[in-house]
Amino acid sequence: MAFPVRTMGAFARMAAMPDLLSAIPVPKKEDARYCQARLRLLIETLPVTVWFNPAGVAIGCAALWFGRSDFGDLSLWRMVAAVGAQCVASIAAAIAFRVYPTVSCDGVARVRRGLVTLQALIGFGWGGVIWALWVEGNAANNCFVVIVAVMALWAMALTRCAVRTVFLTGLASLAVPLCVRLATSSGAAAHVFLAILPIWMAYMLFSGLSARKRVDDMLAARFANEDLSKELAVAHDEAVQKREEAELANQTKTAFLANMSHELRTPLNAIIGFSEIIMSQALGVNNPRYPEYAGDIHTSGTHLLTLINEILDVAKIEAGRMEIDPRPLHLETALEGIERIMAIRAGEKALTISYTVSPDLCEIIADERAFRQILLNLLSNAVKFTPQGGHIAVACKAADEGGTLVSVTDTGPGIPAEKLAMLFKPFTQVDNRFDHAQGGTGLGLALVQGLARLHGGRAWIESSEGHGTSAFVYFPLAPVKRELRRVG
Ligand code: ADP
Repeated sequence: MAFPVRTMGAFARMAAMPDLLSAIPVPKKEDARYCQARLRLLIETLPVTVWFNPAGVAIGCAALWFGRSDFGDLSLWRMVAAVGAQCVASIAAAIAFRVYPTVSCDGVARVRRGLVTLQALIGFGWGGVIWALWVEGNAANNCFVVIVAVMALWAMALTRCAVRTVFLTGLASLAVPLCVRLATSSGAAAHVFLAILPIWMAYMLFSGLSARKRVDDMLAARFANEDLSKELAVAHDEAVQKREEAELANQTKTAFLANMSHELRTPLNAIIGFSEIIMSQALGVNNPRYPEYAGDIHTSGTHLLTLINEILDVAKIEAGRMEIDPRPLHLETALEGIERIMAIRAGEKALTISYTVSPDLCEIIADERAFRQILLNLLSNAVKFTPQGGHIAVACKAADEGGTLVSVTDTGPGIPAEKLAMLFKPFTQVDNRFDHAQGGTGLGLALVQGLARLHGGRAWIESSEGHGTSAFVYFPLAPVKRELRRVG
């Protein structure tokens, strides 16, 4: 019973075959990748033509020469002509093999034309062999020559089937001289072969074209495989990149938590310590230092509030919940407010800050709170990182592409080039000796970038180690120029 069951299984698998084959993409008629691959397959067979054709004909001639009592008396020059015809075709094939190996997609049509011409030459070369070696009325000779021609046709169908035009040219260029030779011959053998030839040619045509179909199926499977490998490689690269990003995010989060605990603990300890002293009246009733301690508590509380506001703002921006209200802001007035806030902190380190608004610029279209936050964050960084006695320049000018460009440039330690790209990610610090000395949470620039994007603009930093830092923010909404206002 095992045999019929196995046989049934085999039939079932065969029945499923068309479905499997239909999963392989069918080549489009003009798909350059397929054309290129078919031509390559064909070109790879040319070395066989180069060596085998003249050698095969020379061996055939030797056989005819030694068997001339049976195969008929052939003159030497006809044999030389037969081998010569093949040598010419072989030299052309050798040149083509050297010229065509780098078939590019755009050169496909040109290469195909070249190969058709070459195949016609080879086919007529074989025609020359048939005519040169043919002995009229000698059945043994005629059989020998026809067998050689059929072998050549068969080899041609096998090696040239990948490209239809080349295959058809080869078939025609060999069949025509053979037919004419048979039709114009008088012997019985020639007439028998002439009667069989159409059937044989039809069989060759069918075999060649179905072999071409198999070549296409094979190429389709190969390309599907290659495409899959490429997609797998891309997916693998993406997965590796995602893992690296996740690892970096994890490290950043850990660093942020460590940083935050420091940033939260310091003011909280101050608040608890000073409030305990005041609460327990540890320095006596109405000690004049109590108001000073209350001031420290207020400063620490304000610092904590700023910190928490920053965290909430970044979270809001990341969740897409932050809303802005861009309006025309008078630049000089907006900068004056910022100047007042920064003056005390800059004074502590003897830093000078210059504020420049280009003469043609009067207003900027921005959300007031966001604009102030952006400049305060950039200026806080500049003040934080610029050493004693340094200089900071704030400049606002009309951008070439429309809108306003605001920059904050300092004479601080600068930022290494490889760290610039990550600065705008939340919780990121460059992690250098200056960061540890200056504190901070790594949220300031993320907030700047988020707010700039809410305006449809962007923020970026240009810096190199030891040469200061310039932070830029681009506000794309068209500013009002002084001249325009006056004219209006
Ligand atoms: P932080 O609150 O830690 O300053 P930011 O997002 O504002 O967070 O800045 C991220 C990091 O970028 C800082 O920790 C610092 O390493 C670097 N940085 C920002 N501005 C400057 C600057 N003007 N000079 C040098 N380094 C800077």
